[in-house]
Amino acid sequence: MILASWNATAGWSAPALQPYAPLSLPPTASCLHYATTCFEGLKAYRGDNDGRLRLFRLSRNCARLGRSAARVSLPAPDAVQLAQLVRALLAVDAPRWLPADQAGRDRFLYVRPTLVGTQAQLGVQKPTEALFFIVASYMPALDSPSGGLRLQTSPADAIRAWPGGFGHAKVGANYGPAVAATQEAAAAGFGQVLWLYGEEEGGWCTEAGGSNFFVVWRRKGDGKTVEVVTAPLGDGLILDGVTRGSCLELVRERMGGRVEVVERRFGIGEVVEAGEEGRLLECFVAGTAVSESRAEVGMVANWLQWFICAVSQIRHRGRDTHIDMGPHGNGGEITTKIKGWLSDIMYGRVEHEWAEVVPEAVKQEQ
Ligand SMILES: *Cc1c(COP(=O)(O)O)cnc(C)c1O
Repeated sequence: MILASWNATAGWSAPALQPYAPLSLPPTASCLHYATTCFEGLKAYRGDNDGRLRLFRLSRNCARLGRSAARVSLPAPDAVQLAQLVRALLAVDAPRWLPADQAGRDRFLYVRPTLVGTQAQLGVQKPTEALFFIVASYMPALDSPSGGLRLQTSPADAIRAWPGGFGHAKVGANYGPAVAATQEAAAAGFGQVLWLYGEEEGGWCTEAGGSNFFVVWRRKGDGKTVEVVTAPLGDGLILDGVTRGSCLELVRERMGGRVEVVERRFGIGEVVEAGEEGRLLECFVAGTAVSESRAEVGMVANWLQWFICAVSQIRHRGRDTHIDMGPHGNGGEITTKIKGWLSDIMYGRVEHEWAEVVPEAVKQEQ
């Protein structure tokens, strides 16, 4: 792990690379009481053909940690230095955990930069002390959910995020409170909660667990134009996902003229209606760590490698909308294309400015 501490008078300590180990915190530490905590999640991939280590749009994650930190009054680490620290940790850990001679698309390191307020004084205030660390964990190959991800809409009495809140920040307080509804959905056989907001159009579709939500439909009215629709940024309800932004950019660039990208509020009522009218073509979720909950093991089973995952079913207030899973059963044409484009970039099968090669420490031959 990499560890650095901060205090309001001295600023940041020199970061240290050290073995993964428990932290020592005062029981009164601000993060334990007031959720002064934020994090990032990104992956390091081993190239299919060249065995080199790659990161996908690292600078986006570093900039976002700064925005999340600001939302909970923590000191934003310098984005350029943060990126260097991620590379430094991977230079040491990647050769061990992702051996270059075992290249393949189904394994990666998940990297978790984290920032917490550690001030010992009780009382709600801007932390004067903080701790920053980066840990990485190895992820083996897992099967994607067979038959697609099934979503259940959030219960009428639960809200994940609201205007003026913090749904747009990767802060700890967004995740713990969402677990109860996720467990409820899992008990009913659904992999994730589709979080709705408000009353209009049955409630605006916002996000599905820790991933952004997309629908592909033929536009109501003309019934011809194919739209890729996702919730907008700007109202603070959703996280500005790196995968989300990348999907939108790729579709604009590579399917422009054929498919329209639409970022707007859209309601579950519109999705259900599109399904009934046969206009709903595809649904998918996008995020670095798409996960699915499973009731039978009483825990979250993570299909963390599926940065894009097709959705096959949405249950809303007891009514089901089924979505076609395409000829191979793992997603429609647009979902499959986006997934292929992104994975080609991440695993270095094509050269692209979104992927950077990370230099690694040379292995010592004994
Ligand atoms: C992390 C996260 C996402 C996905 O963001 P990526 O940058 O694509 O990994 C989406 N929604 C929520 C709530 C998240 O926490």
